[in-house]
Amino acid sequence: MFTSKSREPREYQNRGLDALAEPPEVGHELFVGLSALRDTLSSRHHTRDFAFAHARYLRSRVLALGLIFALLSPLWIVVDTLVLPVELLRYTLLGRVMLMLGLVGVLALAYLSRERIRRIRFSAGMLLALPAAFYLLVLVILPQEQLVNLVGYGFIPFLLVAALSVFPFTLLESLGAGLAMLGLLAFAQLTDGSWLSGQGVESLWLLATLLVVSLAANHFQLSLLLRLYRQATHDPLTGLFNRGALEVHLSKVQTWQRATEGQGSFGNVPCSLLMLDLDHFKRINDSYGHSAGDRVLCQFADLLVRQTRRHDCVARYGGEEFVIILVGSGEARAMEVAERIRYAVEKSEFTDHDGKIIAVTTSIGVTRLLQDEPPQQALKRADEALYRAKREGRNQVMGANDPLIGE
Ligand code: GH3
Ligand code: MG
Ligand code: MG
Repeated sequence: MFTSKSREPREYQNRGLDALAEPPEVGHELFVGLSALRDTLSSRHHTRDFAFAHARYLRSRVLALGLIFALLSPLWIVVDTLVLPVELLRYTLLGRVMLMLGLVGVLALAYLSRERIRRIRFSAGMLLALPAAFYLLVLVILPQEQLVNLVGYGFIPFLLVAALSVFPFTLLESLGAGLAMLGLLAFAQLTDGSWLSGQGVESLWLLATLLVVSLAANHFQLSLLLRLYRQATHDPLTGLFNRGALEVHLSKVQTWQRATEGQGSFGNVPCSLLMLDLDHFKRINDSYGHSAGDRVLCQFADLLVRQTRRHDCVARYGGEEFVIILVGSGEARAMEVAERIRYAVEKSEFTDHDGKIIAVTTSIGVTRLLQDEPPQQALKRADEALYRAKREGRNQVMGANDPLIGE
């Protein structure tokens, strides 16, 4: 089965141009597109971890664009000075000073909000809202007959809608901002009298078109970000966290443990680590084939996810080794959970592609995760416990008997 698969590319090459006529896989692209659309529409389905990665990306954009806006705004004073009468200049000057102060505030907020997702989102919103508010203020304050003298103000809604495409905003966020800009342009047209004129309709049409282009850019940017994040942090076979993501997550759990220390009446929150290795997995590969082995790994991963709670972390650590972080469980509770998983694996019906039942067992090492130790140390302890479980005959749970870790 495997040899015929590996011969495929050469056969296609030999058939030359005929290979070009091969139809694409039906439905696959459409499926990818639609699921990506759900993920780019709103952040409701994003994991907390992705929300952090997303916010960091958003923050760098806010800093770059905020700096550009803050530099461009005072430069335009030169144009104002040339075209506006002196008595109006002081209004726009005052507005620009306020705008610049606001932009400096936004830059400071974004700079100081490294891990604060909400604040970063807020600063991104303010970055767009401030120039819009400045334009609105100018429209309200200046007498109507003076509006024709304004140069370089009418493009503010266009600039802001174009700026939306720089950010990996969700479609709903961008749509909201875009509709607000369309409203601003409509208000400007009602104020200067160009509403429903040929030029006015053309401007609205242009802004709406620009918004659609920005929405498309948002969708592609955010779905690319999601895909890259997923590839970097998840195991493609089982869909679980990979080893790198696990190590990052371990440090986060320890930070959280330190942060919750002394809060409430419980003291610090105990967390535990389970390291699991399938017993005699080589034999499964040898007897049923590598792809049946892959299938067993997926079924095993599903079982682990079902046996743990939503905030516990399940990761594929290596080939057929897995790690679980149990949040809020001390070693005694972790031993119970590990025993429950071991039993569930022993009793589960793992199957190959033909439905043939494959007997699977797992050995598990358990240790407490201390909040101040390097994560590698806890992983090493769990690994040592696991190998004692293997030495004792496999299909069993073994605790790390480090004297420091007793409860
Ligand atoms: P034990 O752990 O009980 O000592 O025995 P074992 O047979 O499981 O020993 P070992 O850990 O040495 O073997 C692991 C095997 O897992 C070797 C490797 O071919 C297989 N393996 C690793 N990754 C994958 C994978 O992604 N798919 C499949 N099918 N097999 C894998
Ligand atoms: Mg093994
Ligand atoms: Mg192994």
